[in-house]
Amino acid sequence: MALLKNVRARLTLWYLLVFTAILLIYAGLAVSLYYFNLRQDLDQELQENYEILENLIEITPNDSVYFDEDDAPFLREEWFEIWSDKGKLLFSSLPVSSKRLPALHPEQLKTGGFRFHSLNLQNDIHLRVMVGKVNIDGHWLLVRLIKNEQPLWRDLYSFILILLFALPFALIIAGLGGYFLSRKLLRPVDHMADSARKIGEQNLHQRLPVVNPDDELGNLAVTFNELLDRLEKAFARLKQFTSDAAHELRTPLTAIRSTGEVSLQENRDTDYYRNVIGSILEENQRLTRLIDSLLFLSRADSDKIKVRKEPLPLYLFLEQTVEFIHPLAEEKNQRIELKGVRGIKALADRDLLREAVLNILDNAIKYSPDGSVISVELGQRNDEVFIAIHDQGPGIPPEERDKIFRRFYRVDKARSRSMGGSGLGLAISLWAVRAQGDRITVTNGQNGGSVFTIILTQ
Ligand code: ADP
Repeated sequence: MALLKNVRARLTLWYLLVFTAILLIYAGLAVSLYYFNLRQDLDQELQENYEILENLIEITPNDSVYFDEDDAPFLREEWFEIWSDKGKLLFSSLPVSSKRLPALHPEQLKTGGFRFHSLNLQNDIHLRVMVGKVNIDGHWLLVRLIKNEQPLWRDLYSFILILLFALPFALIIAGLGGYFLSRKLLRPVDHMADSARKIGEQNLHQRLPVVNPDDELGNLAVTFNELLDRLEKAFARLKQFTSDAAHELRTPLTAIRSTGEVSLQENRDTDYYRNVIGSILEENQRLTRLIDSLLFLSRADSDKIKVRKEPLPLYLFLEQTVEFIHPLAEEKNQRIELKGVRGIKALADRDLLREAVLNILDNAIKYSPDGSVISVELGQRNDEVFIAIHDQGPGIPPEERDKIFRRFYRVDKARSRSMGGSGLGLAISLWAVRAQGDRITVTNGQNGGSVFTIILTQ
């Protein structure tokens, strides 16, 4: 049974089974065909004899039959009987008594017709019989010609014997052929397994050999290589993410340490220490925000955030979100305008959508000048609802629009950092929107600034 766990052995076995079945069917057909051919030859001989006999038979005045065997000397070797139409045996050349055969009755045959059948006598004698009805000088006679089927069966048995002898050889050859064929076919799988075994974290750039990309195994290797491509990219992203995260964490930690160290060097007044503690707390706050963002993304990556959609009254939701972030805008004398149709509802996860909108609004506040206006527009197009956030900031160059959603990506690193950005805000927004099956786009506004649009399906 352990052997059958091997695909090669299973393939060979199946191949053998199918091959045996085909061989048996083929042999059966060949034997039947051979038998029918031999019998047809026999029947033809009987019919030819019958036709000769038909022309030779004469009726004598005392109602017996006569024929000149010298006209067809081979008839002496043949077995036949002639019966009158009254059911009386007139002639027999049979080596056995005619009584051993069933008697003939004139009504068995239609006028001029003949019939073939096979007959088995008790001691295993197989006969082929032809019965015909002829009219000789106005007298109806029945003629029964008989041939021994023994030579036919002998031929048939020899044929079967030859087939039976050949069968094991055919099976051995087929089995070996099947085994070598499956070995040859599956060899690329072994190569693939060997190569795959050698691929690890260190040499993730290596790929499996692809012998023929058009066959199934080639296709498997190509698919596996594509998987390796994806894994390699994911690994590279993870490495990049870890090193970016470490770098981001180090900056506030270094700031905290150096501020602390400098302040310890000399004795200063209370105001000075108050200031130092204030900036340490600010860095701490930045660290906390960064760690919160990292935790969110890590939970998102490991599918730990459950999306719970509910019909959300969007205007009310936006009012509350704007109110929440309003103090930040106030610090910069900015105004946040909310426009749109009240009463629009969409299926959305309140917490995730809030996260997405807050990050976009936070950016709009951060990157727009003091005293500018940020507008939040709620609208409806076909069966889609959109939330568009316009600002009066520098806008985003077209070539950067895809990149800004990547983790830790910033168009202007120093500027973002100085404004307390971590480079994760838009990555979180994108995840939060996509997790709900929705989209987010970015363009530049007609009068400058950028427009971030979240498109929700209703
Ligand atoms: P950050 O914490 O740096 O703001 P984000 O992921 O939120 O990180 O944004 C990525 C980058 O996209 C930002 O660093 C900034 O360069 C750019 N960006 C985002 N929002 C805006 C905006 N409203 N106006 C101009 N640039 C923006």
